[in-house]
Amino acid sequence: MSYSYTSRSSHYNKPRPSNGRGRRNQPNKQTIHASKFVQAAKPVQIDAYTPTHQFADFTIHSLLKQNIIAKGYKTPSPIQDQAIPHGLNGQDIIGIANTGTGKTAAFAIPILNKLFDDKKSRALIIAPTRELAQQIEEEFRSFAKGSGLFGALLIGGSSMGLQLRDLRSNPNIVIGTPGRIKDHLERRTLNLSLFNIIVLDEVDRMVDMGFINDIRYLLGALAPVRQSLFFSATIDPKIEGLIQSFLTNPVTISVKTGQTGENIEQNVIRYNHSSEKIDKLHDLLTREDVAKTLIFDETHRNVDRLTKELEVRGFNVDAIHGGKSQGHRQQALRRFRNNDIKVLVATDVAARGIDISDITHVINYSVPNTYDDYIHRIGRAGRAGRIGHALTFVNP
Ligand code: AMP
Repeated sequence: MSYSYTSRSSHYNKPRPSNGRGRRNQPNKQTIHASKFVQAAKPVQIDAYTPTHQFADFTIHSLLKQNIIAKGYKTPSPIQDQAIPHGLNGQDIIGIANTGTGKTAAFAIPILNKLFDDKKSRALIIAPTRELAQQIEEEFRSFAKGSGLFGALLIGGSSMGLQLRDLRSNPNIVIGTPGRIKDHLERRTLNLSLFNIIVLDEVDRMVDMGFINDIRYLLGALAPVRQSLFFSATIDPKIEGLIQSFLTNPVTISVKTGQTGENIEQNVIRYNHSSEKIDKLHDLLTREDVAKTLIFDETHRNVDRLTKELEVRGFNVDAIHGGKSQGHRQQALRRFRNNDIKVLVATDVAARGIDISDITHVINYSVPNTYDDYIHRIGRAGRAGRIGHALTFVNP
């Protein structure tokens, strides 16, 4: 039996009930001075990191090594180099790392190695958004190819029935978002008491999104003896609290290189009236250097309105937000990734964690709620060592 991840449950069709806002718990809006949106890009640092291990050095199954090679990974990234040996030893880990550092493989490789040996072990991976959960699932799928392990992807907006079928197959790996995992737990369609490996990915984001109680509830339902791997870009007191309550003698690995955004050329676009605003956006999008653009706007309604307006103006554009069906969101991302569309309009939550290496521009059509959101938004451009551009519309 080959590794069989939930192809059945990928028939996404049900839109998530929309609150029209585009985020779960809207944090208070910070006042961010426009000067914080202006910054010259620093030349991209050539990564001087010399790994202390090669993938071949890790004591892992040959199938896993083959799958790593097949994926095209040649040398471990810093988080992989430092976390994988501890992960393989069964230690609890706190990984302080941003998206894009290779943290998925840093936890996937030790977990899969354990599951290859011990088919009774069970791993739960919790991520803040559906898109990130799907990206993680794809990564697991490629590393576990040919292993016979079975996985389930439990995310909102996708068919409950198909997830139930996958859960009846007693999957070794469950990946999902907090709300849907909790749904299954409450319906007793998922029993977490045998899950002895837990990953919380982007813990800070999950806390920001109001998932802290759900997370505590889910962690409380796991096997008491377990390996816990928490990844977060920042550690604040709430996260400290989770660490104290749920981790045992964790090793901390930090590969965070300060705030991201250094390789992003940042500037503002000033406008006085909304009619002028859309015209300025129009002009920008026709510029040749503005090759692939992610536009952020604030609410589901605004994202839809802006998308329609751009369509009327002849742009080939699509939108993602929490009110769209999962199928639509996936299709829009696929089209954007494949350059079938060059402009994607999104809310913060829907675009979180998107890893598309050739986005040239991030445009903040609305000012983000917090500076942290801003940094996260602009980090969607300038991936893979490139210089990116971020333009923020401000109304003086
Ligand atoms: P992540 O931070 O896990 O989302 O990974 C960011 C991107 O880097 C993904 O596209 C990964 O497939 C890729 N990646 C992760 N680790 C490596 C590696 N060791 N070599 C090459 N690419 C990698």
